[in-house]
Amino acid sequence: MDTTTAPSQTAIRWTVAAALALVCVLLARGILGGVPPEMLHALGLVAVSLTAYAWVLYPVGASWLFGLAVLVCLVWAWAARQAGALALDVSALAVLAAAATWQRARRARALHRLQQTVGDLGEELVVKEQAIAASVQTRDALQRKLSRYTQLQTIAEELSNLTDLGAIAALGVERAFSLIGKSGVCLIFLVDLERQELSLFASKRREPAAKIRAKHGDQFDRHVLRTHRSLLVNDVRRDFRFTVAVSPEREISSVIACPLMLGQRPSGVLRLDSPQSAAYNQDDLRFLDILLDLVSAAMTNARLLAQTQQLAVTDGLTGLSLRRPFLEQLARELSRAVRGREPVSVLMVDVDYFKSYNDAFGHTAGDLVLKGVADVLRAVAPPGGLSARYGGEEFVVLLPRTARHQAGDVAEAIRRQVEQRVRGSAGGSTRAKDLARAAGPARAVTVSIGVASFPDDAQVDLELIRVADQRLYEAKRNGRNLVCSS
Ligand code: GH3
Ligand code: MG
Ligand code: MG
Repeated sequence: MDTTTAPSQTAIRWTVAAALALVCVLLARGILGGVPPEMLHALGLVAVSLTAYAWVLYPVGASWLFGLAVLVCLVWAWAARQAGALALDVSALAVLAAAATWQRARRARALHRLQQTVGDLGEELVVKEQAIAASVQTRDALQRKLSRYTQLQTIAEELSNLTDLGAIAALGVERAFSLIGKSGVCLIFLVDLERQELSLFASKRREPAAKIRAKHGDQFDRHVLRTHRSLLVNDVRRDFRFTVAVSPEREISSVIACPLMLGQRPSGVLRLDSPQSAAYNQDDLRFLDILLDLVSAAMTNARLLAQTQQLAVTDGLTGLSLRRPFLEQLARELSRAVRGREPVSVLMVDVDYFKSYNDAFGHTAGDLVLKGVADVLRAVAPPGGLSARYGGEEFVVLLPRTARHQAGDVAEAIRRQVEQRVRGSAGGSTRAKDLARAAGPARAVTVSIGVASFPDDAQVDLELIRVADQRLYEAKRNGRNLVCSS
């Protein structure tokens, strides 16, 4: 629009200026040349009209200049001819000039108000834009938060399906690594109670080929375990709490780590590190804290479940298997032996004169004897064998892939070891000690053992047990502290 109208505006301005100049010249010539007043009046009216138009077209300075030139001409004409009509022209010019000035002042005020309004709107726009930017940031932050909570919910569901400690830890490092990102490795260390040190339990690496050599954690892991608090290190070289140690296996600039609680006890550490400094923020730390709460709860449950399962199949006094899981294992071994045409043997072990032992030394000493016999069974039974407390002072040993003569050798070794090693000492109650004193020095404990084998003696599990039991009583009848294999 500007490119087409601007030249025409200029042309109009020049035309008006030229016309005004022409009219003024004509007026001057008319005055000097004696043109009649009517003609001068007509020229005056044209000059006034053009001046009025000039007020619209030109800036205030130029407009006043034109007005002044026309006024001079008209006043001159009026003074020269004394014609009333020319006075009318002068008056018209004055009225027009006044009206134009008033109009200009009004327009200037309106323009000023408009400029103020535009300024206000501009400021309002800036404030609104800032508010929009802030709400976009808030929305993004909320979306990130929501997505992290959704991720945590998914992880909680995944964890609820797992009961194995290793699988839970593997899922924990996998999810922490992928959801927090930015890391070279994610590691879970658990406290090794025997050695009282951290031990690597699960890991996830960006480079799958990379080896984790610090299997017992480093200063950051030990710090978290000692303080029981989460740790965020932006630059390991600038953090006064840690010595500047260069990791031989990978570059570490920032670290984020949380303590892993099993039950109420700090039992390990989950840690991520990155070669970039300031890789993690408080949000990451909060997220890791919540994730680790989930992992800790799942691991605690898994541990309790494993302990409960263990208790359900283990005898509390001796730590050996109970009768039911033993019989289940025997049935499995026998069907495997049938398929593989391999032998299986069973030993039935009974403590000799145990009742009189209890009577002489007390029940507590009797318990120690049972524990001692169980220790011998554990030590002598070959790998793959299963020892169980069958009931009271009777034990059974399952010997897979063992023929009768080999089983007889194992039974003989057990008999000998019990005779040599097991002594009931009178500990515990005062009554037990009194009894032991009355009974004299602790006497040697002996066992009688019956041996039965598949396929020589029986084809099914209960039959195998029955034959072993029969031979046990054979050994008892023959004087005890004996092995009977046939
Ligand atoms: P035998 O040589 O014929 O086997 O004689 P025994 O006295 O060992 O046999 P008996 O079956 O008469 O006695 C078994 C005893 O084992 C009776 C019971 O008090 C004792 N006993 C069973 N369970 C336990 C236990 O858990 N602790 C203790 N201290 N004694 C037990
Ligand atoms: Mg007995
Ligand atoms: Mg018995």
